[in-house]
Amino acid sequence: MNIAVAVPGEPAYDEATRVFNLAAPARPTVAVTARTVEEVRAALRYARSGGLPVRVHSTGHAAGSAAPMDEALLIRTAFAGPVEVDADERVARIPAGVRWGAVVAATAPHGLVPPHGSAATVGAVGYLLRGGISFYGRAVGVAANSVRAIELVTADGEFHRVSADRDPDLFWALRGGGGGFGVVTAIEVALFPVTTVVTGTTFWPAAHAEALLRTWQKWTLDAPNEASTSLRVLNLPPVPEVPPQLRDGPVVGVDGVVLAAGGDVERARRQTEDLLAPLRSVAEPLIDDWQVTAAGAVLETHMDPSDPLPYVGDHLLLRELDDAGVTEFVRVLGEGSGSPLVMAGLRQLGGALADPDRAGGAFDRVAAHYAYSGSAALAGPVTEEAITAHCAVVRAALGPWDTGRTVPTFVDSHRQPQGHLSETDRAAVDRVRARVDPGGLFRTDIAPDTALDATAL
Ligand SMILES: Cc1cc2nc3c(=O)[nH]c(=O)nc-3n(C[C@H](O)[C@H](O)[C@H](O)COP(=O)(O)OP(=O)(O)OC[C@H]3O[C@@H](n4cnc5c(N)ncnc54)[C@H](O)[C@@H]3O)c2cc1C
Repeated sequence: MNIAVAVPGEPAYDEATRVFNLAAPARPTVAVTARTVEEVRAALRYARSGGLPVRVHSTGHAAGSAAPMDEALLIRTAFAGPVEVDADERVARIPAGVRWGAVVAATAPHGLVPPHGSAATVGAVGYLLRGGISFYGRAVGVAANSVRAIELVTADGEFHRVSADRDPDLFWALRGGGGGFGVVTAIEVALFPVTTVVTGTTFWPAAHAEALLRTWQKWTLDAPNEASTSLRVLNLPPVPEVPPQLRDGPVVGVDGVVLAAGGDVERARRQTEDLLAPLRSVAEPLIDDWQVTAAGAVLETHMDPSDPLPYVGDHLLLRELDDAGVTEFVRVLGEGSGSPLVMAGLRQLGGALADPDRAGGAFDRVAAHYAYSGSAALAGPVTEEAITAHCAVVRAALGPWDTGRTVPTFVDSHRQPQGHLSETDRAAVDRVRARVDPGGLFRTDIAPDTALDATAL
């Protein structure tokens, strides 16, 4: 079969090149949406015959994290077919292109959850291939370690189903190795028995940021693995979707999930109280909406935007913050700091996220205490230069606590330093790439700093 690729100006091109971050548009030479393995094969034949390198997207949520594409064929995977749930084996098969919202809708009726991220709109395949940090992460580990099998078409057009038993090296490299191995058409992921969680957010005026951060940081030191939380400073716009209490200046929000392990809701309630009681005693919250609810509600907790928007930001992995670290964080991001960032905060790591997994992928754990992310939309009077300049101020201030490493899924821009893999692991993924793609068809689909041979990128 042949496939009709689309060129700029055609509706099919616009469809295939849609991205979430409008500040990182995808403008390849040609683009195609592939819905079947045969269409992927045909697209790869087209690329080979035209000498075009191939890039792959599912939803375009991470479009900015790889180098811009110009001379390339972009394949957007939008595979038809339902999410298949095997409740006995606790595994789901997810066609490439399906978003977490649809996966959770399919697994929740079975009392099972995948290790999904915070947003319903993120694609399961891109998230799992790049690691994936879930609000269940401290209980179940880096999401890619839960992948059980991956179906893909390699540069030669061959279809493979790889797993721990079938081509374990490729299976290892695919899970966090930085891409460049082929076009994934479906992925199988383990599910966890979670029906009930305690989840929500409590907000305070940012005037209390320092005391709240110190209190939260102390709690994180020996928090239970059932709990995964974040603390953010938010400068929210005065729009109808934002509750009025949060429109009057910067606020601090502590959100997250405490899962009711073994269905023990009372224990989860107590664990949540251990987190929130000391924070509530710092100051009266503006909003305090943690509640016992069904696991599906976790996709709403983090209040991620659901529609595409232009934004820029930064990400660091931090070691434990001491008193000086807390002070610096508040100095550059708290009230009066002049920070133009709409959202800046720390995601709690540790627990199972820190555990090496011998059966896991190339990115199998996060050796840091907190993931810092900060970003702002390019809207209104604040310029990209002002945001970027403030990101640099934050980076410098938090420098003493910066591990120099990064989580692949939290990097939004290819201009940010990326340090996901050790040199040994980069050499190992390079060997796998050289075996499965000797001609370098996917050479531009490789995430920065995940290959030793940078000239290949
Ligand atoms: C609002 C929002 C919330 C987020 N929340 C979280 C979170 O809680 N935790 C977290 O870890 N991350 C989170 N992320 C980051 C997100 O997980 C990454 O951006 C992820 O890579 C997106 O995957 P995708 O398939 O949707 O995006 P895409 O941009 O389509 O894909 C990302 C990359 O994955 C690879 N890829 C995608 N599809 C295929 C395929 N079919 N075959 C081969 N390679 C493929 C490609 O290298 C591609 O460049 C969030 C992002 C946003 C925008």
